[in-house]
Amino acid sequence: MIMFITLVFLVMMVTGSFIIMSLRFNEENVRSTDLAFMAQHIHATVIDGAFNSLDLEQSRDHEVLEEVFAGRFSGLVPVFVPSDTEAFLISAESRATLGTTTGNFAFHTSQVVIAALSGEHSFSPWTHHQNHLGQGIYWFEYAMPVFLEGSVLPSYVIYVRSDASDFNDSIGEITQTIFLGVIIAIAMSSILALIFSSSLTQNLLRLNRKIKDFKVGAGSEPIAISTTKDEIGQLTGSFNTMASELDAGMTAITNEKNKMEIIMYNMTDGVLAYDENGILIHSNYAFEELVGTKNINRLDMYEFFAEIGIDFPEGKSIDNMDDSIINLGEKYINVSFNPYKSRDGRIQGVIIVFQDVTKHMVLDNMRKDFVANVSHEIRTPLTTIKSYAETLMDGAAEDVVLRDEFLSVINSEADRMASIVKDLLELSRFDSSRMDFDFKPADLVALVKANVRQHKMSGEKLSKEIDFASNVETAEVVIDPERINQVLDNIITNSFRYSGEGAKIEVEIRESKLFYMVYITDDGIGIPKDDLRQIFERFYRVDKARSRELGGTGLGLSIAKEIMEAHGGRINASSELGRGTTMMLRFPREGEPV
Ligand code: ADP
Repeated sequence: MIMFITLVFLVMMVTGSFIIMSLRFNEENVRSTDLAFMAQHIHATVIDGAFNSLDLEQSRDHEVLEEVFAGRFSGLVPVFVPSDTEAFLISAESRATLGTTTGNFAFHTSQVVIAALSGEHSFSPWTHHQNHLGQGIYWFEYAMPVFLEGSVLPSYVIYVRSDASDFNDSIGEITQTIFLGVIIAIAMSSILALIFSSSLTQNLLRLNRKIKDFKVGAGSEPIAISTTKDEIGQLTGSFNTMASELDAGMTAITNEKNKMEIIMYNMTDGVLAYDENGILIHSNYAFEELVGTKNINRLDMYEFFAEIGIDFPEGKSIDNMDDSIINLGEKYINVSFNPYKSRDGRIQGVIIVFQDVTKHMVLDNMRKDFVANVSHEIRTPLTTIKSYAETLMDGAAEDVVLRDEFLSVINSEADRMASIVKDLLELSRFDSSRMDFDFKPADLVALVKANVRQHKMSGEKLSKEIDFASNVETAEVVIDPERINQVLDNIITNSFRYSGEGAKIEVEIRESKLFYMVYITDDGIGIPKDDLRQIFERFYRVDKARSRELGGTGLGLSIAKEIMEAHGGRINASSELGRGTTMMLRFPREGEPV
């Protein structure tokens, strides 16, 4: 607004000044021409006229000449000199005024007269002098030197001046008018500027506010400030285009980020990302779950690795570290270091992946234990067989009683080995899913009852009592009867093995909404609480010596477990040390076995 008003002011001022100056210049030209013409006319009338009227003799007489000049001047000049103009004839020698249309004039103060006295035609505008009434006014002055024949310096000066007051007044009035015009123009332009700028700035301010409020990626509505084709409209349009492009870009980035976050969050492997300065830039949920290091954000990268037990050997840094497995509590975690690089191959940071390998480790340990156990279990009977055979070869065979005894030991150890190998083969078939089942609908009550009956005799021999009870008449299940008999055999044999003389074993069938349960309860030695969970593991025995002595392999319950799981069922044990053990077999009531 200020700029606009300043511009209007300057234009008005320059135009006004130009008008006034050109008026003055024009007036000066006109007046100087008029005055010069007047002076010429006076010269012709007074000087030339005088010479024409005088003879040579008279014209050389100064006094006569001046008298004639004065007479002619006062007689002829006032006739043609207008009232606002004054004319003088001045003698250069005496500095006296020879003729005047008004009164005397102190000509020595006039610059033009002084210039004319030295021989120059001279004009001066706007000179302030008094008039014959003693009023100070502005004049246009013109002085003309008059040279008499043969003289180098002027002998007379014709001095004319015209009143510039009127013109001065009209210039003053014009100036005032222009000044008024400037004020009106400024006032009007101020109002216009106010209206224009307020509409412009209002739109700009609103646009600015909208832009400030505009949130990229929030799907904001386009800004509806102006739909006109002016600059604001174009600016709004450009902004809306830019905003929608930004919005689309942002949405794409956000979607990508969300995807990454979902992936990162749901990854089972822990991930840490450090930048090239060792500043943590990301850690995911799995990392916290797995490693659980608190204040990871505050820990220096190397401090953190020291805390979880990873050292950097000499020559190794974060970008060339090998994978290592750390042990945190019960967990085993594989830590791998993956440096990431920029396009020019510069290392920009490192991504560290924490992978829970506990299962692998446990399985690996189990495999190692299993191999050790198998070797141990086979080696024991083998050693016995070998030593008995050697003793026999050394001559013991000659003693018939000793020979029979040794051969019977060898035979039973061979049986033991055979049963271990048989059990192992069976387990290996389960492991490789090669075990064949002959599933068919069967009555569990009849099957268990028959099995108990079979064991009754052998139980009696060992002075153990076995009873059967059921709260259902029949229990229809889909099973492989031979395998289920194998499970029952194993459990009932265990009850006989791990109980004392006169023990009572109860086999009972119960039903629930979804399952049939077979409970085999003895009042034997029981199983310590800590061992209870492990008795289904391969080769696990609470009392190794006793189990072995009684012909156990430590594989029976693990085979039973595999068989029950193959039926979609379960096997569970509960026990109280010294009081007895209950094994529970659970069969699904309906549907096909898994
Ligand atoms: P084993 O051939 O040694 O009997 P199992 O796999 O059948 O092997 O059983 C594993 C271990 O569980 C046994 O060695 C024994 O210590 C324990 N066990 C199983 N059944 C009973 C039971 N009824 N009473 C006490 N201990 C038992």
